[in-house]
Amino acid sequence: MAKRVALITGASRGIGRATALALAARGWNIVVNYRNKAAAAEKTLAAIEKLGAESLLVRADIGLNAEHEKLLHETQRRFDKIDLLVNNAGIAPRQRRDVLETTAASYEEVMAVNLKGPFFLTQLVAKRMIDWLQAGKIVSPRIINIGSLSAYASSLNRAEYCLSKAGIGMMTKLFAHRLAEYGINVYEIRPGLIATDMTEAVKEKYDELIAAGLTPLTRWGRPEDVAAAVVAIAEGALPFSTGEVINVDGGFHLRRL
Ligand code: NAP
Repeated sequence: MAKRVALITGASRGIGRATALALAARGWNIVVNYRNKAAAAEKTLAAIEKLGAESLLVRADIGLNAEHEKLLHETQRRFDKIDLLVNNAGIAPRQRRDVLETTAASYEEVMAVNLKGPFFLTQLVAKRMIDWLQAGKIVSPRIINIGSLSAYASSLNRAEYCLSKAGIGMMTKLFAHRLAEYGINVYEIRPGLIATDMTEAVKEKYDELIAAGLTPLTRWGRPEDVAAAVVAIAEGALPFSTGEVINVDGGFHLRRL
């Protein structure tokens, strides 16, 4: 069978990039999706190819359903299958505002990229996965959604982000339930505080909180920590689990007395 193919949304930087490299190092071919930062995406592509994997770059805004077909079409033309979809692309609100001041424009923007886009892209990819399974082109395809501790921890100044990630929790359950009959397992990985461009603006605040014991493992998470969890699932480490949440958060979710 041809090398396995992973489609990773938002793979130009951060967690998506680390995931792309980790899978490429294990012999996967990678579709790198991004939206704006073409130079970063090109660098990721070059790094993947240096690892001996094939890679395809596709610019598509995950928040726009109309661009999903293009992403799929280009992937299909190049690789003719997807073994793994990683719904990783995500954004924080442009401006943090108190929940009493959240604007409709920010709500709609964040929800489009973080929840609506992944939902409809998954719908599209899942249907193709069923066809590819029936055609014998793939075995044991999987879908991984990158959620967040914000699914359950409220941040009063980014309500729209929290809502989008809470939605990813239910989205994971819905697709896990629906796709189980085909053997397409669906997982949510729930990162904690990971040092990427997304968290750069709040680095100092969390440096202090982490040092003061916010997380039992007293360090920032690295994109590679999340990538390691994706690789474990991708390589079949959890075959009898679906709809499962994997926390990659240094123990943030533990309640302590
Ligand atoms: P990041 O460093 O800001 O990277 C975001 C990536 O998503 C970039 O590749 C970006 O592409 C892409 N992207 C953004 N909007 C897109 C769109 N509309 N269409 C296609 N691609 C888009 O973020 P990160 O920290 O790696 O976060 C990755 C995921 O993990 C997100 O879903 C985030 O919510 C989640 N997460 C992060 C943390 C954390 O602490 N960092 C914690 C929990 C969950 P361009 O380069 O083209 O802009």
